[in-house]
Amino acid sequence: MIKCALVTIGDELLYGNIDDTNATWLSQELIEIGVIVSARINVGDGLSDIQWALEVALDKAEVVILTGGLGPTKDDKTREAIAGFCKRPLVRDEGLANLLEKHFSPRGQQVVALNEKLSWVCEGSEILPNSKGTAVGTWVDHARGAIISLPGVPYEMKIIMEEEVLPRIRSRYDVEPLFVQWIMTAGQGESSLSVALESIEKSMPKGVDLAYLPSLQGVRLRLTSSNKLKQESKKIARSIEECLGHLVFAKENTTLSYVVHNILIEHRVKLALAESCTGGNILATLVKHPGSSQYLLGGHVVYSNEWKHKEIDVKKDLIDSFGAVSEEVARSMAEGSKANSGADMALAVTGIAGPDGGSPKKPVGTVHIALCHNEITYHKKFRLHTDRQVNIALTTTLALNMIRLALQGSLEA
Ligand code: ATP
Repeated sequence: MIKCALVTIGDELLYGNIDDTNATWLSQELIEIGVIVSARINVGDGLSDIQWALEVALDKAEVVILTGGLGPTKDDKTREAIAGFCKRPLVRDEGLANLLEKHFSPRGQQVVALNEKLSWVCEGSEILPNSKGTAVGTWVDHARGAIISLPGVPYEMKIIMEEEVLPRIRSRYDVEPLFVQWIMTAGQGESSLSVALESIEKSMPKGVDLAYLPSLQGVRLRLTSSNKLKQESKKIARSIEECLGHLVFAKENTTLSYVVHNILIEHRVKLALAESCTGGNILATLVKHPGSSQYLLGGHVVYSNEWKHKEIDVKKDLIDSFGAVSEEVARSMAEGSKANSGADMALAVTGIAGPDGGSPKKPVGTVHIALCHNEITYHKKFRLHTDRQVNIALTTTLALNMIRLALQGSLEA
């Protein structure tokens, strides 16, 4: 397998002004064709920074892809850095110069002069045309590996990568796409999953790798292998799915909300929501999927006690006796929402999102979710996190997962 190192250039990346989406995208594209990204390096705009990165990157990989620093301004130093590193001169590419002259001349001679820099490349560069912009990419073969330079602007970088770089990598190197399988889970954290999968993992042959990718939307499991080990890898995926049972919500790289959306459509269930601590986030998550009107009647955001009473008939004495964050109130919210809306299923959440509002008995992160369906009201209590945003996101995931489990017949009362 060939290895590639990514060098993303720009002070703005180091200062945290922008996210390095170029490196993320490049990693995904390269792994797809069977190229392993062995290092990712962020460096500033300085010439010596870029040359230092090239030195390190070529120790790690036979292909280095740089993005950024190809513009016409003084702080764009990638061309000079590559030429200096390769100990070659910068040369003017006449074909490029003519194209740039034609492109910039309507804007005046000053602009033409400023952009003159764009036609200079390291001697021996192969030009990688840019169909969406003026800064071309270059491919330079160096004794230690290939040095590929691309613009920083994401859509320009992507088009050159797709049209010029990936086809060259495929034809110049012996690359074979990895065999990738996804197992999407919700309802357990990665440590519980890894305990459950311990014996399967121990018996996995060398060359089949299992990665845990946790997020607030669940834990994605990625199983990778070469094509030679495809059959073994498929068997392992089946064993994992069997072992995890109803924790698995999909066998492809998709989202829980999309899966729930499709299950609701398939079951022809009309859904109503009553949300307190999530402030409408569950509804907003479902509405993002086109076709949600097929099952979604609507929702109440009932944040205050008064609104819980006024909108979905939660009795005041229930709130006084048990508190707004309680099993009793969650159940009453779901039942009230179902009765008021005429839905087949109603889901309600109430909790303490934080950072304030907790107590020793009900700490921040206490969440109750109730789901009313087929005359049964299910309830679950959770103790989540101390961070407000995390609590909102996790509650949304757990609520969607309850809908899924209820419709698949795996939700216990
Ligand atoms: P330009 O001709 O615009 O100067 P350039 O090749 O010199 O292009 P940069 O100046 O480094 O590229 O970056 C241009 C813009 O592209 C940045 O302002 C930023 O918005 C975006 N960009 C650069 N690098 C990245 C990156 N790694 N991830 C995401 N966006 C990036």
